[in-house]
Amino acid sequence: MRKTLLATAIGAILALSACSDNTAPTQVASTPSAVENTEVTSSNPFFQQSSLQYQAPDFSAFNDDHFLPAFEEGMKQHMAEVEAIANNSAEPTFDNTLVALEKSGEMLNRVSRVFYNLTGTDSNEQRRKIQSELAPKMAAHSDNISLNPALFARVKAIYNNRNELKLDPESVRLAEVYYDRFVRAGAELTEDQKTAIRALNEEHSNLTTKFSQNLLAETKNIAVVVESKEELAGLTDAQITAAAAAAKAAGHEGKYLLNITNTTRQPVLSQLDNRELRKRVWEASAYRGQSGEFDTTPIVSRLAQLRATRAKLLGYANWASYGLEAQMAKTPEAVFGMLGSMVPAVVENTKKELADINAMIKQHGGDFEAQPWDWEYYAELVRQAKYDLDENEVKEYFEFNRVLEDGVFYTLNRFYGIRFEPRPDLPVYHPDVKAYEVFDADGSSLAIFYADYFAREGKRGGAWMSSFVGQSNLLGTKPVVVNVMNIPKAPEGNPTLISYDHTTTIFHELGHGIHGMFSDVKYPTLAGTSVSRDFVEFPSTFEEDWAQHPEVLSNYAKHYETGEPIPKELLDKVLRSRSFNQGYDTLEYMSAALLDMEWHSLSADEPLQDVVAFEAAALKKHGVDLPAVPPRYKSPFFSHSMGGGYSAGYYAYMWSEILAADAFAYVQSRGGLTRENGDHYRKNILEVGNSRPTMDSYKAFRGQEPTTDALLIRRGLKTKVE
Ligand SMILES: [Zn+2]
Repeated sequence: MRKTLLATAIGAILALSACSDNTAPTQVASTPSAVENTEVTSSNPFFQQSSLQYQAPDFSAFNDDHFLPAFEEGMKQHMAEVEAIANNSAEPTFDNTLVALEKSGEMLNRVSRVFYNLTGTDSNEQRRKIQSELAPKMAAHSDNISLNPALFARVKAIYNNRNELKLDPESVRLAEVYYDRFVRAGAELTEDQKTAIRALNEEHSNLTTKFSQNLLAETKNIAVVVESKEELAGLTDAQITAAAAAAKAAGHEGKYLLNITNTTRQPVLSQLDNRELRKRVWEASAYRGQSGEFDTTPIVSRLAQLRATRAKLLGYANWASYGLEAQMAKTPEAVFGMLGSMVPAVVENTKKELADINAMIKQHGGDFEAQPWDWEYYAELVRQAKYDLDENEVKEYFEFNRVLEDGVFYTLNRFYGIRFEPRPDLPVYHPDVKAYEVFDADGSSLAIFYADYFAREGKRGGAWMSSFVGQSNLLGTKPVVVNVMNIPKAPEGNPTLISYDHTTTIFHELGHGIHGMFSDVKYPTLAGTSVSRDFVEFPSTFEEDWAQHPEVLSNYAKHYETGEPIPKELLDKVLRSRSFNQGYDTLEYMSAALLDMEWHSLSADEPLQDVVAFEAAALKKHGVDLPAVPPRYKSPFFSHSMGGGYSAGYYAYMWSEILAADAFAYVQSRGGLTRENGDHYRKNILEVGNSRPTMDSYKAFRGQEPTTDALLIRRGLKTKVE
């Protein structure tokens, strides 16, 4: 929520596309002043535009002492600009209000984009301190803008007259987006109501912080202590050594410690031979946060009630209705409809998988039905029996540079006509980062692209795309985009061989990348990836599927030493194994998405809920209560829904995937990898950003609304009808 308000105030400063379904760590606790403000302003590089091409940041020119003074000056300048717009004695016009707002905050934008990118890719103690110190200041800055009545009066006057002002469609859209954001932040409320909203916001902020802190403490607290090495049979020597070290660090010298990861299912469950220990690990995970010192259930039930109350104040039936209005899905009914339509196929497939697993249990002499702590262990045995896949053998055909250049760049060249040229002259923020200039089909220069693919200390886990400079025809700026991943880098002199998962992720992130780089809109607020949460993963997921397209594969999947193409049988195994266990994976995800929707469908008048009972009833109601397949997250540790920014939004990953699968199937039905298809998709989906409603864009591309068929086929849950 904070991110939304911030975006309201200062435009899409942090156009970060989250990719893996990990929420970024929530910023908590502020600390005393991290840095003394002694920097002489004239020597601070953030005080001027970068003179490099497309205003690419000059990473060689600044140090960490430059950030705070630049933020402070940036906020001061921005606030002065906003005050001047709000208090202008002239009648409000589109130019003197909305265009002026779009042009404001230049310096704050500049320093924010650099700083927040670096806190993700190259963090250090000082940067974390600055980040903590900035969090409340940036939040207050944003509130001071979005709750400014004089400013809102001008925005509203333009919005009310938008159809008489002879504006172009993108400008009408801008007027609507601004108005909606102000209203959604509470600008239309009475002073009493605003006071109530501020109080709820404050309580909300405290509760989500407390939720994150409790969860962190609880997860540490419930790590499973194992007495003997024998019980760990199935783990690798390296894992056992790590468990011994973890135990020692936690004061259990001579024992072994198994840490609990964030989802209900635990990775070690696929390996541990000892069924009792599997049960202990699973129960520690699944019952996390339900009792004891770090119980999160009172927080969960109050958060649900508080959000319903906030929604009611803003005129909505519940929090889901409020949240979804700003999304492509628009209503809770649309989300329940989409998920509900898939439940039968997904449950049917999951039951088939369960039958295979129960058969495997019998085959191994077990006399029991699969429980949640058995699933992954026996699924792994089923997988080995069915696919017999040697990951290391596969990796020999996926050498990093070949994947990037002959796979991803090749595809983008074939589909859109673009080229990537290395730019070793541009400064980078780490020696592993590589800069490129991207050229369009007609030879014109399009963007700067930084590739930051390798894991290192100080980099957040996962993979994502972000921008250092956003595209805007109004400001005359071109995109400066970065892709970040965590691929383990081979030692100097050796080729980096990567998994097929990492391969598809490179395609995925460059899908976000071109969404940013192809942006061709006037207003920065509407550019590139600044689309709704349930649309943003569509262009990235769409590009993923080229990784297995025959023309693309034959160009890049070659043995790193011999250059031989990947053998057909091996490739078939890789591709077939990707639909393995998809019933389980899809069902655990859908259960969590439905649970998130149910929590946020409560009305303000309903009492505080018993969390465990509410959850059980919600899963039963939707027919997704298979005992062996619990939701991916249970309410007491569902950070996306309760602690993070995905409340009533966890469904968004699948919504985007539906669009991607439907669009990709449509392209294949019209000839596949052709420039004609690429240009059509680019023009209707990628160039337009948020300059028109996303469903309008989709229909302009596809000729109709999407269906879920292609997604079910993509996940191997439905057979293709030719
Ligand atoms: Zn993504």
